[in-house]
Amino acid sequence: MSFSSDVKDELNSVCGQARHCQLAELASIVHFAGRIGKSSAGFDIPVENEYASRKCFTLLQKTFNINSVDINVFQALKIAVGEDGSVKNDGPVDGRLLLKDCCRRAYLRGAFLVSGSLSDPSKGYHLEFVCRNDEQAGQLRSVMSDFGLESHSVLRKNHVIVYIKEGEAIVDLLNIMGAHTSLMNLENTRILKEISNTINRRVNCEAANIAKTISAASKQSEDIEYIRDHYGFDSLPDRLREMAEVRLENPEASLKELGELLDPPVGKSGVNHRLRQLSELAESLRQG
Ligand SMILES: [Zn+2]
Repeated sequence: MSFSSDVKDELNSVCGQARHCQLAELASIVHFAGRIGKSSAGFDIPVENEYASRKCFTLLQKTFNINSVDINVFQALKIAVGEDGSVKNDGPVDGRLLLKDCCRRAYLRGAFLVSGSLSDPSKGYHLEFVCRNDEQAGQLRSVMSDFGLESHSVLRKNHVIVYIKEGEAIVDLLNIMGAHTSLMNLENTRILKEISNTINRRVNCEAANIAKTISAASKQSEDIEYIRDHYGFDSLPDRLREMAEVRLENPEASLKELGELLDPPVGKSGVNHRLRQLSELAESLRQG
């Protein structure tokens, strides 16, 4: 199963206890589905995925104790339906159904069940809702922003896509909708991904440092060999001669290690200073 269907599967079992929440979620499902179908049994809500249609059934049972939509449902959800079954006010859900926080959470659940999807978090963060029109997208974005979630929207074919691209905001939305197991799975993936990014960064950084050290050391050795061949160690003051010998004998040692090999030992900056003097001498010898 995809991560998206895991979330829907979980949302299917999340249901507000209060009737107001149940109505809000049902209204959300109907609006995002955009149609009421006429069947021999009466009306139904033709949603394309099994999760949303199972949820519809549950909600109708809980709120009206019926299996298909009737006129009472339209009234309760404040929905007008045309001759052809299309929802006339198919934009936003009636604001009176979304006054409470709990009902706005239920609205988001319904919206996600019908029209939401979420990319596999190991590949990237992208959660989107396919909205039927601008009004619907506007209401969805405003409900999300009530919860402090920033979203974006873009036109795709005849639909308005409302999306969130930030891992943290997606986690927040899952929490708001009540998808706590999915939230934990996403967080785990997020943490693993972050750890592996950090490790990669450190490895790269260390490799760069090592390369830098090696190239500095080989330049120092080159300079010191030039001094040995064109000037002679005997002509150097003791402290520089000792430094030159220790460097040549320990081509892979760090500045700190070199300092410890000197007698008496010298700190990192002292070693650095002496090596710089040697390099400057080599440079002036080269220039004659
Ligand atoms: Zn409620």
